[in-house]
Amino acid sequence: MIRNLARAQRTMTSNVFLVEGERTVLVDVGTDFDVVSETQTHVDDIDAVVLTHTHYDHVGNLEAVTEAFGVDVWGYDTDQDGVDHEITDGETVQLGDHEYQALHTPGHKEDHLCFYAGKPGVLFAGDLIFANGGFGRTDLAEGNRKTLVGSINRLLELVDDLDEMHCGHGPSVTTNPKHDIEIALQAAQMGV
Ligand SMILES: [Zn+2]
Repeated sequence: MIRNLARAQRTMTSNVFLVEGERTVLVDVGTDFDVVSETQTHVDDIDAVVLTHTHYDHVGNLEAVTEAFGVDVWGYDTDQDGVDHEITDGETVQLGDHEYQALHTPGHKEDHLCFYAGKPGVLFAGDLIFANGGFGRTDLAEGNRKTLVGSINRLLELVDDLDEMHCGHGPSVTTNPKHDIEIALQAAQMGV
């Protein structure tokens, strides 16, 4: 079961995905809303926090979450505030009941990760790509459009069966998400 806890929020928060199962995790924690209460309406406890990247809108609630649940935080770069454990490129990460492959996908931010599981056909895309061909902005610090295009290409090569794509902002895609990745690639390539 995957729920977006930030769905009803009107703040500048990222999406927050509660992935329930054998290892219940939050993928990103958002900012400027009570994500602890939102989490507790569905589960008593969580086992870990996993981050797609450390932009403020994805990690602002981190302290509240780690204090409330006493959990550790996994991300790509342990030099970033609040990241306790490193996830390396290609590593397997359990989210809920499934094994996901972590893919280092810089271009929006240097420490950006996507998580893909071929078995249920699920992708957490973070801010690399969004629904309908959107892609992460590359005008912030650590942003690089060419690098982003390379990351989308890598992602496309990796994903095979894909039924659900959960993005860092906006709606999830449950109808042929691979097509959304392809049009994001085309859009991001323009002007590179
Ligand atoms: Zn971001």
